[in-house]
Amino acid sequence: MTRKGLTIERREIDHPTGDPYHNQKKYPEPSLCQVCNLVYIKGSYKWKKNIPENAYKITCPACQRIKDDFEGGFLLLEGRFLAKHEAEIVNLIKNTEAVEKRRHPLERLISIKENGTKMEVRTTYEHLTRRIGEALQKACKGELRFSYLDDQKYIRAWWKRDK
Ligand SMILES: [Zn+2]
Repeated sequence: MTRKGLTIERREIDHPTGDPYHNQKKYPEPSLCQVCNLVYIKGSYKWKKNIPENAYKITCPACQRIKDDFEGGFLLLEGRFLAKHEAEIVNLIKNTEAVEKRRHPLERLISIKENGTKMEVRTTYEHLTRRIGEALQKACKGELRFSYLDDQKYIRAWWKRDK
């Protein structure tokens, strides 16, 4: 599948298989994540203004992934454009997380590491990596590629802009 400046390829990539952080796992209801206050109720995760009393205490799959440093998506940013627009790009990444997290509460940033010429972004699930890549290309143009691991919910993305 190819769009302007965007290539999506499906191929085998090397990544640990299996998902010990299965987000369909059933918890007693209501359950409350002790780390981020996310509520598990009616079979799904929701942000609630009113935290239910007597909720079971859990660590939600997103917080567990962050704690264990186990990503579902990885994005590598490269190119000379990066160094000049670093703060702006970090903001764009954080804003994208904030927007996605409202509707998809398990979609979180795990880390942003930068060393001037490269930036590595890791997210809890593949959806957020894809959204960040798309947001970057929309705002900053450049070249964007995705590769998915077959049969696994894992994505690697690569974005580059020089000028
Ligand atoms: Zn949590």
